[in-house]
Amino acid sequence: MKNFKAIQGEFTVCRKEYITPHYIRIFFTGKEVPLIANTTIGVNNKILIPPKGVHTIHFPEFDYEKMQWKPQPEEVRPIVRTYTHRGIDLEKNEIWIDFVAHGDEGPASAWAITAKEGDLLGILMKDGETELYAKAENYLLVADSTGIPVIAAILEDLPFGVKGTCILEVDSKMEEQRLETKADIRFLWIHNENPQQGSRLAEIVKQQPMPETSRSGYVAAEFSSVKEIRRYLRKEKNWKQEELYAYSYWKSGVSEDKSAIDRHQENAAG
Ligand SMILES: Cc1cc2nc3c(=O)[nH]c(=O)nc-3n(C[C@H](O)[C@H](O)[C@H](O)COP(=O)(O)OP(=O)(O)OC[C@H]3O[C@@H](n4cnc5c(N)ncnc54)[C@H](O)[C@@H]3O)c2cc1C
Repeated sequence: MKNFKAIQGEFTVCRKEYITPHYIRIFFTGKEVPLIANTTIGVNNKILIPPKGVHTIHFPEFDYEKMQWKPQPEEVRPIVRTYTHRGIDLEKNEIWIDFVAHGDEGPASAWAITAKEGDLLGILMKDGETELYAKAENYLLVADSTGIPVIAAILEDLPFGVKGTCILEVDSKMEEQRLETKADIRFLWIHNENPQQGSRLAEIVKQQPMPETSRSGYVAAEFSSVKEIRRYLRKEKNWKQEELYAYSYWKSGVSEDKSAIDRHQENAAG
C-alpha cells in the first residue's frame, strides 16, 4: 500500500445527540476542521482515544511495510478504532461521527456513551476526495448498525432516477433511523438484539430479487455476514469484483485491533 497524505488533528466534543437509543451522533470542533473540507462524506477515519489523564493526543506513525502502527510507550498510546466521517459544517466549524453504543466492553463505544463537552479525541484520515461507491442504475445496500453511516452517506449522494434495495440490521424497531435519498429505494429493516451471536443479513439478502444489469452493491457489516454475502453474490450470482464493495466492519467476540488481520484478508478477497 502506498503512503498517502493524511490529515490529523485534535478535536473536542462540542455536543452530542441520540439519533436512536443506541446511536449517538457526536459533534466535534477544532482548528483542523477546515482541512477535512475536501474529503468525501462516508469515508473511514481513525479515532484516537487518549489514555485517562493524558490531555494531548500522541499520534502514532503507520508502518506501510508491516501494515501496522509503530510501537508507542503504553502510558501515552491512544486506543485506535475505525469510524466514518459522517458530516461537516464549515460555518459552525464542526464535524460529526455516529457511534453505535454497543456497551462498555469496547473502549470506543464506552467513550462515546460517556463523552461530554470538551472531551478530547484524535482523528486521522486520508486527505482528498474518494469514490465511495461504484455508480450504476440499480443498487443493493446492506449493513448492520456499524455500516449505517456509510450507507446513509451513499443514499444521500444517489441521484434521482436510480433505484435499489437497502437492507439494514438494527437491534429493534426503535433503532430504525430516517435516511434521506432522492433515489427510489425499497428499505428492509431487520431486527437483531444480539448481533454478537449471529445475523440474518445474508439469509435476507439471498431472498431478494437481484438486478442483472447495471448494478452496484455495498456491504458493510460483521465479518461472517460479509463473507457469506460476498460469496453468494460473487459465486452464485456472478457479480463482478468492480460491482461489489464488501467490507467487514467488526468481528464478533474480537476487538478491532485483534481482528484487523482477519478482516483485511477477508476484504482483500474481493
Ligand atoms: C471502515 C469502517 C468504518 C466504521 N464506521 C463505524 C461507524 O461510523 N460507527 C460505528 O459505530 N462503527 C463503525 N465501525 C465499526 C467499529 O470500528 C467497530 O464496531 C469497533 O469494534 C468499535 O470499537 P470498540 O472499541 O467499541 O469495540 P472493540 O474493542 O473493537 O470490541 C469489543 C467487543 O465488542 C464487539 N463489538 C464491536 N462492535 C460491535 C457492535 N457494533 N455490536 C456489538 N458488538 C460489537 C467486538 O466483537 C468485541 O467483542 C467501522 C468499522 C470500519 C472497518
